[in-house]
Amino acid sequence: MSGREYFIGIDLGGTNIKAVAIDKEGRVFCKKNTPTESEKGPEFVIEKIISLINNFADNGELVDRDLRAVGVAVAGVIDMEEGICKFLTNFPTKWKGISLAKRIEEGVGCQSFLINDVRAMTLAEKTFGAGKGVKNLVCVAVGTGIGGGIVINGDLYFGSEGFAGEIGHQTVEPYGIRCGCGNYGCLEALASGPSITSQAIRMVKQGATTIIRDLVDNDLNKITPRVIAEAARRGDKMAKEIWRREGYYLGIGIANLLVILNPEMVIIGGGVSRAFDLFFEEIKKTLRERVYVGPDVDKVKIVPGKLKDIAGAIGAATWAMLKVI
Ligand SMILES: [Zn+2]
Repeated sequence: MSGREYFIGIDLGGTNIKAVAIDKEGRVFCKKNTPTESEKGPEFVIEKIISLINNFADNGELVDRDLRAVGVAVAGVIDMEEGICKFLTNFPTKWKGISLAKRIEEGVGCQSFLINDVRAMTLAEKTFGAGKGVKNLVCVAVGTGIGGGIVINGDLYFGSEGFAGEIGHQTVEPYGIRCGCGNYGCLEALASGPSITSQAIRMVKQGATTIIRDLVDNDLNKITPRVIAEAARRGDKMAKEIWRREGYYLGIGIANLLVILNPEMVIIGGGVSRAFDLFFEEIKKTLRERVYVGPDVDKVKIVPGKLKDIAGAIGAATWAMLKVI
């Protein structure tokens, strides 16, 4: 094979499909974003992915290059060895048992590999992003849910069945509220994007003094973490308290990771990380309060992700690259 190969990474989400083409150095040639339209079913979505990949070849920069492999980051549980979907979060239609990797291989004519979306994000940040050159790190993705990934001695750690990194489903409040997974008091139930939003809605309904009501023109359905962040930046006390709680719960979750894994760095990604500056100090404070037998918390780097919303797609491409070279 020539040195002029490229790899395509697909981030298959419930709302959007993001795709990138990268070379071995992680240079992104082009990126695409299209609605998933998952309600139309797996066959429709698979055809969409295949034509998206085949259209990449028309891009000027890629004309003289060969597509070597495709990686697909999937939000859910997959059989990585067989390339089969088991359970996809946020997909209304049935994907169980679909040989996604094989279908893509048949459609595009090169090898294809699956990886969980947040493990992909971790791999991307570790290889080309905030964690480049770091041997031991943990990535926490805070968005609609909370996921993560673990890198040990330079390698992504999957555990015996691929569940290593399900950081959002550790208990941080023994008698806390019920999580979507069935457990009570999971980090995800207390600190995910929807959890932040519902806290704000509840407090506004209870009559708290806040500018959030004005920011959404009295339409509480318009409250999002982005609005709560804006309110906090304008000095709103209630919004600031929500972000303090966010830092507190993330801090407990990260404290547990520090004493178990002793990472050099913790990367916080996902949509909620746009408000990183609003909860970072509380994470640090919580770590100082809760880590005794463990690393010096002031030496552990707590940083936002660098690759933002294309981290999953870059990670998927990186995964495919690792599999074939
Ligand atoms: Zn849970």
